[in-house]
Amino acid sequence: MPAVTLRRVCAVVLASALLAGSGVPALAQEPVEPPSLATAVEALAVASPETSPAGLTTAKVRLPVCQVQDIRTRYYKVKEWKKTLLDTNLKVTRSYRPWDLVSVRRANIASTGQVRKRITKDLRALAAAARKAGKPLAVRSAWRSYDYQRSLFDSYTRRYGYAQALKFSARAGHSEHQLGTTIDFSVGPGVPLSTRFGDSPSGKWLARNGWKYGFIMSYPKNKKRASCYTYEPWHWRYFGRKLAREIHESGQVPRRFLYTHFESAP
Ligand SMILES: [Zn+2]
Repeated sequence: MPAVTLRRVCAVVLASALLAGSGVPALAQEPVEPPSLATAVEALAVASPETSPAGLTTAKVRLPVCQVQDIRTRYYKVKEWKKTLLDTNLKVTRSYRPWDLVSVRRANIASTGQVRKRITKDLRALAAAARKAGKPLAVRSAWRSYDYQRSLFDSYTRRYGYAQALKFSARAGHSEHQLGTTIDFSVGPGVPLSTRFGDSPSGKWLARNGWKYGFIMSYPKNKKRASCYTYEPWHWRYFGRKLAREIHESGQVPRRFLYTHFESAP
């Protein structure tokens, strides 16, 4: 097995093992690789300009390296939610809190969490379509506040040390869950997060159909240099159906799409 692949597997296994013994709900994990693995510059062939689905002609831009930084993201207001890019470098502030959080149960899907009201219609349609296809989905984790994410990360730091905590938890302000538009799915209530979800019938159905309902997988397999995170088949961010279709048809990970079209745009 190539060294990088082995280390990726180990990072996930390590995170799972740490969480299993931590007493902290597994739903909070965001397993990531050690920062040292994330610092390679992504080599992109800047060939001829390409035309985006949005009709814009853009050259492929060089994405910033995924580092541990605290730079305020360009679109940091709640009303700019579709354009807001969060990664290991970019963040929103503590005051970022959606004003329209409602129970996920409004979407008729099993969960105890909250999401923004604006996503419930499409989430309900997604859940219904999955059920109809015999591939049921449950919500494992949805909105998280800045303070919750911070206390979570701090608890990991106390228990395992800062460097170790970085490997499997997003720092406060850097989690897409703070947007209120991001969901960790599972096959049923109480089922822990695992990459096995991606191989399950429900996970495969979601991978094929999520975009039709406005949801995009933030961290696809083998895209870590572009997305900053290892494969998380359960973690889906809502963009609305129109933008989700554009991202899906671009074939780009959301981080690259957002960086190219919004974050680094003139
Ligand atoms: Zn997540």
